Amino acid sequence: KSKQNGRGQYSFFSSEMNERINARRRLAEDMRHSLAAGDFIVEYQPRFDTRARKIRSVEALVRWEHPERGRISPADFIPLAEQCGIITPLGEWVLRTACATAVNWEGVGVSVNVSPVQFHDPQFVEKVAACLQETGLPPHLLELEITEGVLLDDAARATETLEALKKLGLRLAMDDFGTGYSSLSYLRNFPFDVIKIDRSFVSDIATNQGARHIVQAILGLGRALGLSVTAEGVETNEQLTLLTADHCDEVQGFLLARPLRSSKIDELIVELSSQQSKRHAT
Ligand code: C2E
Ligand code: MG
Ligand code: MG
Ligand code: MG
Repeated sequence: KSKQNGRGQYSFFSSEMNERINARRRLAEDMRHSLAAGDFIVEYQPRFDTRARKIRSVEALVRWEHPERGRISPADFIPLAEQCGIITPLGEWVLRTACATAVNWEGVGVSVNVSPVQFHDPQFVEKVAACLQETGLPPHLLELEITEGVLLDDAARATETLEALKKLGLRLAMDDFGTGYSSLSYLRNFPFDVIKIDRSFVSDIATNQGARHIVQAILGLGRALGLSVTAEGVETNEQLTLLTADHCDEVQGFLLARPLRSSKIDELIVELSSQQSKRHAT
């Protein structure tokens, strides 16, 4: 009897596992379909220059408008897209869309997140070069956001790729800085232009001395190494005040602007530049 129970249990778990595997397979299928059908969209979140008080660039963030389930967050589908390999065509589509859109924002740059899987595609550099050429975006207006994960397994090859990307004339940002392991040596050994301080530090600076000190140390590090520093996830006026007082170069967060459709960015750029010229005129 107990054996039967055991077997029953075994098959219960195994069918649950099967169900989960099937659900993931369906979702991966849906992703392929959605990529072809145009159910992915790109939103853009402004990054503000604290000194010039204007939009220096925007970050491209992909969204999935699932035909039945509605909007699915990138945190929920990027890992699966990485496992099933769709991240490479999806990431290329985001890159192309972002570059083609940013061409119209005279002087405002765009940053694009690159998954480690996409980064390790042997043709990645060529594809980026082709994208710049075909869209006509000046290379200095493109920034690629890379996380430490990219540098973990094969540092020599990663260096080669990063150097080749730099030769195209674009900028490189280390995203989510402070959440990984050996960020410091990475900053010294790889050709980054920008450090993006992870939201987890920024969200605590007004309430926790330790978090503020870490942010100040990162800002000092950026200055010493000649890197620009962006703070992610700025949600309150206090955070903004502290970051400005500490000379953080750029700030990004819901306080200033949420990720927006490209048409909204068009409007925002026009609005801000007319405000700026009014200010200069008085
Ligand atoms: P990330 O690159 O660190 O992007 C910043 C995330 O923080 C975005 O979440 C953004 O909406 C969110 N955020 C910005 N300001 C605030 C704030 O003030 N408060 C809070 N709570 N959140 C804020 P999102 O769009 O959900 O993206 C999550 C992650 O998914 C991104 O983190 C990035 O790692 C990944 N991702 C998004 N788009 C792409 C893409 O096109 N390709 C790849 N490979 N990854 C992407
Ligand atoms: Mg990012
Ligand atoms: Mg980040
Ligand atoms: Mg992230």
